[in-house]
Amino acid sequence: MDFELTNRQKQIRLAAREFAEGEFPAVAREYDRREEFPRDLWKKACELGFIGLFIKKEYGGLGLGFVEFAMVMEEFWRVDPGCGNILLAGFGSELIQLYGTEEQKKKYLPPLTKGKAIMGTAITEPDAGSDILSILTLARKDGNEYVINGSKQFITNGSIANYLAVFCVAYPEAESRLRRFGVIIVETDSPGFSALKITGKMGIRASDTAELRFSDVKVPKENLIGMEEGEGFSQIMQLFNINRVIAASQGIGVAQGALDKAIQYVKKRKQFGQPLAGFQAIQFKIAEMATWVEAARVLTYQAGWMIDHRKMDPKLISMAKWLAGEVGVKVTNEALQLHGGYGYIAEYDIERFYRDAKIVEIYEGTKEIEKNTIAREILGDYRR
Ligand SMILES: Cc1cc2nc3c(=O)[nH]c(=O)nc-3n(C[C@H](O)[C@H](O)[C@H](O)COP(=O)(O)OP(=O)(O)OC[C@H]3O[C@@H](n4cnc5c(N)ncnc54)[C@H](O)[C@@H]3O)c2cc1C
Repeated sequence: MDFELTNRQKQIRLAAREFAEGEFPAVAREYDRREEFPRDLWKKACELGFIGLFIKKEYGGLGLGFVEFAMVMEEFWRVDPGCGNILLAGFGSELIQLYGTEEQKKKYLPPLTKGKAIMGTAITEPDAGSDILSILTLARKDGNEYVINGSKQFITNGSIANYLAVFCVAYPEAESRLRRFGVIIVETDSPGFSALKITGKMGIRASDTAELRFSDVKVPKENLIGMEEGEGFSQIMQLFNINRVIAASQGIGVAQGALDKAIQYVKKRKQFGQPLAGFQAIQFKIAEMATWVEAARVLTYQAGWMIDHRKMDPKLISMAKWLAGEVGVKVTNEALQLHGGYGYIAEYDIERFYRDAKIVEIYEGTKEIEKNTIAREILGDYRR
């Protein structure tokens, strides 16, 4: 067993930290206020190889693993979660890399790493969130095309993406319910496609979120990811496995960032004639927060390491995602509390971190759905 990061990993972590610390603080509050995707930061992150860093070299990426992706996400979120989500500009490329045909990989992966395209993945619908098998968006086969009708809700990058991986009912007649789905790449300049940006989000406001409509959107049948019919559900589950680890790293990042701010603040702020850090109640709080963050980090790295070593463990992944989400919310809450009244004012970044943290308990599977997965894996079929 080896808990040491490799030199390469240490360099990547440092590069991510330097980039985020150098670029985000001056603009983060403004992007949050304007609810605007930071295109300039995204472009710079592409130039440095951060976007799609897990994409193989032959398709324009650095060919790194998901542990490295998680580390970079953590460092970005540590400085600012909203700006940090520029790393999701290739959300769905994991699917193309894993299952796509050679043509799909050549066409859709390189533009993502070169700053020429943004993508997203559209699963959730107005009436199908946690229960993804209930989606209604229909991709009807018509000769050499799929004709897509339906709507999607809360889609990251939805109004700025050049293409989207869309989870559809494509084979409604399939005997097994699990084989009725396909993931289809839709280019967003296709006639019949429209996106409406959602504003007024509580947090990660620099991250784009949109509602999508598909009205007779025609897509060549070659855009079915992998070209093998009936594989959509298992492809999406695999994407969840990967991206739950990435979401967990967001929880760790926001928690670590909040903890850093709290440590600085309690050393500086004096009450009753001494720095807050002098009170044992405050020391215990800092000790607990640091321990929670470290526990979530170890679990997340382990889950990521398992993916990179082809030992996917959905139970461990869900544990990491649930714990890191909870730690993100708990630590930002405590860190704000340690700032007293100042923490409640937007002038202090901790106010934004507190708002940003909550999303980790919601997307990529809510905390309840993560616990369902953990319990199912532990209890098995208890009815027998
Ligand atoms: C900012 C943002 C970005 C997002 N980005 C994307 C994206 O890029 N792509 C995408 O497809 N989706 C995205 N989502 C959607 C997100 O994944 C869903 O919101 C989430 O899966 C929950 O679905 P829902 O909102 O419909 O809630 P519901 O599924 O209706 O759940 C409501 C509540 O009931 C609980 N619940 C539901 N079922 C059970 C159960 N069986 N047992 C116990 N409790 C249960 C849930 O945990 C939750 O607390 C995003 C959402 C947000 C807010």
